[in-house]
Amino acid sequence: MRVSRTFKRITVRMRTPIAKTGNGTIGGGKINNLLSLGKEGRAGKEGTMYLVKGLRGLLGHAMMALAKEQGREICHSSDKSETQKGEQIIPEGFHPTGACYPKNECIKHKIMGSIHRPSRIKFEPVIIVSSQAKQKPIGNVNVVHIATEKRNALAFGTKKAIQDFGERYFSGEFSLKIELLEELAPEVLKFLLQALLYMPELGLGASVNNGAGKIELLEIAFEEVQRTRAVTMQGEIREEEKTRSLWKELEAILS
Ligand SMILES: [Zn+2]
Repeated sequence: MRVSRTFKRITVRMRTPIAKTGNGTIGGGKINNLLSLGKEGRAGKEGTMYLVKGLRGLLGHAMMALAKEQGREICHSSDKSETQKGEQIIPEGFHPTGACYPKNECIKHKIMGSIHRPSRIKFEPVIIVSSQAKQKPIGNVNVVHIATEKRNALAFGTKKAIQDFGERYFSGEFSLKIELLEELAPEVLKFLLQALLYMPELGLGASVNNGAGKIELLEIAFEEVQRTRAVTMQGEIREEEKTRSLWKELEAILS
C-alpha cells in the first residue's frame, strides 16, 4: 500500500553569526533558553535538539515592512484595534488581522490567513543540534554551534554587577522549508518571495538591536515535491520524496 501527495515547496538556506531565538526566560531567570526537544539517539550521542522559534513571526513582520514600503494595506500582526485603555494599536496602512476577510482579502491574509481562514503555507519545524554532538544527527536536522553567552552588566563607573546572566545562542547555517498548501496566484507568490528576501532587514529573535539575529540568505529553491509513503510486507513505513526544480517558473514570476 502506498499514498502520495504532490505540492510546491520553497526552501531558503540561511546563515546567522549569532541568534538568540529564545522561548523567554526559564525558572531562575538566568538563562534565555532555546526550546529543547530532547536528546536524539539511544545514548543521546546525537546531542540535544532545539527548535528555532520565531521564523513565521519574522516573515509576517517582513510582509508588514515590505507592504508599508510598497504602499499597500495589509493585516497587522495584532487582531485588536486598541488596547484595554483605548490606545490605538494599528498604525496607518494596516488593519487588524483578518478584518479584510472575506470582502477585501489583503495579500498577507491570502498567505498567512487568520482565525477566519487557515494559512495557505505551512512551515516545517527548523531543528538544530550542536556541532559538538558525538554522532551525526538523523533526518532533517541542522548542525550549528550552540552555546551560552555569559553576560555581566556593570553599574556605570563601578565594578558592581547589576546584572549577571547567561543567554543561549546558536550560530551557523540552517534551512527553512515552507510548503504551499494551495496554489498561490503569481502576484501572491511574488509577495511571499519578496518578504522572504526582506527578512534580513529585520533580524531573528531577541537582542536584534544589540547585534544578534543577523541573517544572511544563501540560496533559495522552489520545487515540486512528490512525497510517497509505502508500507512494506513487514509493516515498516518508508517515506520518499522526489523533487523537481520549478526555478524557471519562479524566474518568470520574479521578472
Ligand atoms: Zn488583511
